[in-house]
Amino acid sequence: MYPKIQLYIDGRFRDASNGQMIEVINPATGEVIGGASIATKSDMDEALASAEAGFKLWRSTSAYDRCKLIRKAADIIRERMDEIAAILTTEQGKPLAESKLELGLSVDILDWCAEEGRRAYGRVIPSRGPTIQQLVVHEPVGPVAAFTPWNFPVSQLIRKVGAALAAGCSIVVKAAEETPGSPVAVVKAFHDAGVPKGVLGLLFGVPADISSYLVPNPIIRKISFTGSVPVGKHLAAMAGTYMKPATMELGGHAPVFVFDDVDVGKTAATLVTSKYRNAGQVCVSPTRFLVHENVYDEFLDKFVAGARSVVVGNGLHADTRMGPLVNEKRVTAVDTLVQDAVKGGAELLTGGRRISNAGSFYEPTVLANVTTEMRAMNEEPFGPVALVRRFSGIDEVIEEANRLPFGLASYAFARSTKTISTLAREVSVGMMTINHLGIGLPETHFGGVRDSGYGSEGGPEAVEAYLVAKFLTQDTA
Ligand code: NAD
Repeated sequence: MYPKIQLYIDGRFRDASNGQMIEVINPATGEVIGGASIATKSDMDEALASAEAGFKLWRSTSAYDRCKLIRKAADIIRERMDEIAAILTTEQGKPLAESKLELGLSVDILDWCAEEGRRAYGRVIPSRGPTIQQLVVHEPVGPVAAFTPWNFPVSQLIRKVGAALAAGCSIVVKAAEETPGSPVAVVKAFHDAGVPKGVLGLLFGVPADISSYLVPNPIIRKISFTGSVPVGKHLAAMAGTYMKPATMELGGHAPVFVFDDVDVGKTAATLVTSKYRNAGQVCVSPTRFLVHENVYDEFLDKFVAGARSVVVGNGLHADTRMGPLVNEKRVTAVDTLVQDAVKGGAELLTGGRRISNAGSFYEPTVLANVTTEMRAMNEEPFGPVALVRRFSGIDEVIEEANRLPFGLASYAFARSTKTISTLAREVSVGMMTINHLGIGLPETHFGGVRDSGYGSEGGPEAVEAYLVAKFLTQDTA
C-alpha cells in the first residue's frame, strides 16, 4: 500500500541520479516501510531549469485555466482520499480520522486558492493629467523554493503549492523525508490533472544541502518555509542575502487563557481535543494553560480526566484517538523537557512516560504548578504535553503570554467582553481563537509575529505572497 517514493522533476517521477535513499519508518511499529530518494546537485539543476521553463509557460496561462487545473487536482485528491489518508497515517502516525480531516482541509484550500487566483486584481489610479493612465498590475513573483514539514505533510504542502500555482508561479517543494509518501501521492494528483511539466517539482534529500543550493540560485525568486524557529531564521537570513522575499511559518508556544466565568467542563473537553490532536505536534497547539485560581482545581480535574481517556495506539485502528510521535528523536526531545520540569518541581498529574518499546509512543501528559524557569515553559514541547499554571489577574496572563519570543496562536476562554477585548488588544500573536477552536480555515489569515515568523498562509494574503506589483503609466495622447 505504501507508495514508491521518487523525485518529481520535469513532469516525471524518477529515482535520484545516484540512486541513494533515506529509510522511511512507520512510527507506530518502528518498521522500515520504504525509502526516499536523496536528490543530487544534478537532480536539483534539472529541477531548477524545469521550474524556469515551467514558470514561463504557467505565467502566460490564464488565471481561468490555472484555476480549472488546480480544481481538477483537488477533485482527484478527493477521489483518492481514503488511499492517501492511509499512506499519511502509516508514515506520520496520526489517527486515520485526522488524516482525512487534513486532506479535507487541503482540498478546500486548493479550491479557495484556485478561485482567489482569478481575483488577483490590480488597480487604476486617478492621474494628474487627462491623457495619463496609471495602473498597478499584479504579476507572479517567479519560481518558488518551498520547504514543508512532517507534522502536516499534505496541508502544509498544499498551502504553498495551491497559493503559488494560483498566482502563476512554478514551485519546487522539498517535502519532509520523514513523511514523503503523502506528498508523492498529492503531487501525482497534480500530474494526473494535467498540470504542465516544470510547474511543480518535488525533491527529498539532505535538507541543508537542498536549501543551501536552491535558495541562492538566481532562478528561484521566493522562499517559503514551515518548520522550527532556528531553521527558519537561518533560511530567512539566506533569503535576505539574496534579496528574495520569504514566508516563514515557524514554531509557537501558544498560551491558553481560562477565566472563571466560563463553562469549565466544556472548556476542558474542547482543550483536550485540541491539545492531543496530532500528538501535540502542531505549531498552534495549546501549550501554556493559564487558569484562573477560582476554577484551577476544577479545570485540572476535568482536563486530567480527559487526558487519561485519550486512547493511544496505531492510527490505523478505529478506536485510536492519538498516535505515536513522528520518530524516536521527538520522544527523546519531549521526555527531556518533561523530566526537566519534574526535576524543577512541576507536578506530574498524568503521563510523563513513553509507552511500550515498539513505536514512538508517548503518554498524554499534564504538568501542573509549572514555573518560568523550566525548559518546557520556554522551548516548544511539540508533543502531547499540557503545562498548567494558575493566575489571579489579567495583567499577569498578558505578561506571561508576551514573555516568550513566539507569537503564533493563542486560545482565550472568557465571557466578559472587557476581558476578551483586553486580551485581543494586548496579546502579541498572529491568531487568537476565542471560546471555540477556529484557526486554519482556507479563507482566514494564518501566520505568526515575532519569532513565529512572517507572512500569511491563509486568506487572500496567502496568494498575494506570491505576487509582485508593477506600476504602469502611459500618456495616451
Ligand atoms: P528540525 O528543526 O530539525 O526540522 C524541522 C523541519 O525543517 C524538517 O521538516 C526538516 O526537514 C526541515 N529542515 C531542517 N533543516 C533544514 C535546512 N537547513 N533547510 C531546509 N529545511 C530544513 O526539527 P524537527 O525535530 O524535525 O522538528 C521539531 C521542531 O520543528 C519543533 O520544535 C517545531 O518547532 C518545528 N516544526 C514546526 C512546524 C510548524 O508547523 N511550524 C512543523 C514541523 C516542525
